[in-house]
Amino acid sequence: MNYGFKPLVEAAIKNDKQVIVRSNLTIYFVDGFSDIPEYFAKHKVRVVASLPCYLADNVDKMRGNGVFDASVKALQWLNQLGYGKAGDLILDLVYNPQLPTSENFALTPNQVNLEQDYKKFLQDNFDVVFNNLFAITNLPVGRTKFYLERTKLYQPYLHFLESNFNPVTVENLMCRDQLSIDYLGNVYDCDFNQMMNIPATTRSGETITVAKLLEAGNLNLIGEVQTANYCYGCTAGSGSSCGGSLL
Ligand code: SF4
Repeated sequence: MNYGFKPLVEAAIKNDKQVIVRSNLTIYFVDGFSDIPEYFAKHKVRVVASLPCYLADNVDKMRGNGVFDASVKALQWLNQLGYGKAGDLILDLVYNPQLPTSENFALTPNQVNLEQDYKKFLQDNFDVVFNNLFAITNLPVGRTKFYLERTKLYQPYLHFLESNFNPVTVENLMCRDQLSIDYLGNVYDCDFNQMMNIPATTRSGETITVAKLLEAGNLNLIGEVQTANYCYGCTAGSGSSCGGSLL
């Protein structure tokens, strides 16, 4: 919905960058946005779309009534344009676990098995195909944190994540080779730190902007990754990142 969206996509493509858009599926049915699927296909944008479950009831409970049906229609539309079928039109889906309602927490399910279940169910029932499923853990930040605090599950959930710390995930954490940039050009180690307003800093604690990185010509300005208690969400079990499981 941002007026700068299309210019940003086109500038990135002009500079030979791969463009990945984390896309809301239901927006394609809102007045003024029905050209988006064709626009994506024309520019070969890789689409990553949230579908927190392949069962209608669960999705509607999490996202609102009618969201599942609209999402399936949107996926069928993308398939008609070649998404999930043609090699250069990639369509990925994102699974998020439901928010816990008690202290019976569970780790994010195995991504490979879950992807097979999604593929079979969506193909058999709706003739929908897609490329990859990313299983992403709910990190206790933003609205999830508010929810957990309200239900008195915040501390127990943090403890659960910490007790499932898996050191093997650390090498693959997304903050080790990706950055998040806000619209003012401020740099963060990841989008969670951006959400929590914890900027990337130099060794002396100075905040970093894109302009400073460009001036330096490298990334060595960044001292070390800023960590917080929610980092245990990225390192629990098989790990989690914007590309799903880390293992
Ligand atoms: S939340 Fe922590 S571990 Fe996860 S990507 Fe951000 S800095 Fe890295």
